[in-house]
Amino acid sequence: MKRFDYHVPQSIEEALNLFKSLGDAIYIAGGTDVMVNIKRKKISPKNLISLRNITALKVIEKGKELKIGSCVTHEQLLKDKYIEKYYTALHDAVRKLGSKQIRNVATIGGNICNAAPSADTACPLLVFDTKVLIRNEKGERKIPLHDFFLGPYSVSKDEGEIVTGFEITFLPPYSGSAYIKHSRREAMDLAIVSVATRLTLSPEVDIDFLKREAGEKTYSEFESRLLSYGITVKEARIAMGVVAPRPLRAKEAEDYLCGKRLTDEAIREASEIASSVAKPRDTLRGEAWYRREMVKVLTRRAILLSAKRAFD
Ligand SMILES: Cc1cc2nc3c(=O)[nH]c(=O)nc-3n(C[C@H](O)[C@H](O)[C@H](O)COP(=O)(O)OP(=O)(O)OC[C@H]3O[C@@H](n4cnc5c(N)ncnc54)[C@H](O)[C@@H]3O)c2cc1C
Repeated sequence: MKRFDYHVPQSIEEALNLFKSLGDAIYIAGGTDVMVNIKRKKISPKNLISLRNITALKVIEKGKELKIGSCVTHEQLLKDKYIEKYYTALHDAVRKLGSKQIRNVATIGGNICNAAPSADTACPLLVFDTKVLIRNEKGERKIPLHDFFLGPYSVSKDEGEIVTGFEITFLPPYSGSAYIKHSRREAMDLAIVSVATRLTLSPEVDIDFLKREAGEKTYSEFESRLLSYGITVKEARIAMGVVAPRPLRAKEAEDYLCGKRLTDEAIREASEIASSVAKPRDTLRGEAWYRREMVKVLTRRAILLSAKRAFD
């Protein structure tokens, strides 16, 4: 392994200045992607600039919007009760990400900046219409996460720019979300394919009745009756992982669902549309036809789970 120098700035400004003065450098947060790439000789920077001591990047703020600092670890997200309750798809994702040892150091910023097609936090953040906050010498800019992903391991960020965090607007009432990762085994495995969904519903029946039903019935009992309650979809988001060079929104399927009654037929049709939008490749982890089929299965499951969670 080639020798490198390790720098530990204490502020965002110091990190930006260091990057400019050092030249051959990359940022490192948890290092769980960077160190693997250095060991495999994919990269050989002369300098690593650690972001780990910058406290401003480690905060989860619940103000006008939800702001998650880029150096917030997956374990921090997993333990956050507010995220578990309101941004459940993100909770689902970090619960299945790596191992506890990985989650303790690996960050949400690193997961998004590394931009692997299988990055587990990408699809949940997409369904929450997340904006990426980016700092450079001139100030801060904000771009939708959807535009941040350019391709595999490629993001819309100039050299030296630091992702400071992610901004998520609060979800309207009766919103629910889910992320389902399909992998060969439960722990320490990358997704073969994954789907996140978020629904905002407009129930036309007594809400208290639905809440009681959701609370008291088992999931399968509630699920089997959910579609007979006359619920309209106000807003839908569907995002898919490992089906294209970058995490992908199935906008056609979202548009189809919006304004529709949540029926079995509508969910099946939306899942078919999502699958037709997917453009997966054959890889060692899974073949393209299998991924397309699984998109149908996972989209349907995730929509049903999101609908149920909208009443939790
Ligand atoms: C054993 C193992 C299991 C894993 N399992 C999973 C899994 O199940 N699911 C999954 O999605 N991933 C998994 N990963 C991949 C990895 O852990 C995640 O992608 C992790 O979130 C990366 O975060 P990090 O802080 O370690 O990033 P780093 O390795 O520190 O950085 C990754 C990239 O992002 C850049 N970067 C980091 N932070 C910033 C910032 N704030 N601003 C600008 N650039 C930045 C770095 O320069 C680098 O290019 C696994 C890795 C290992 C080693």
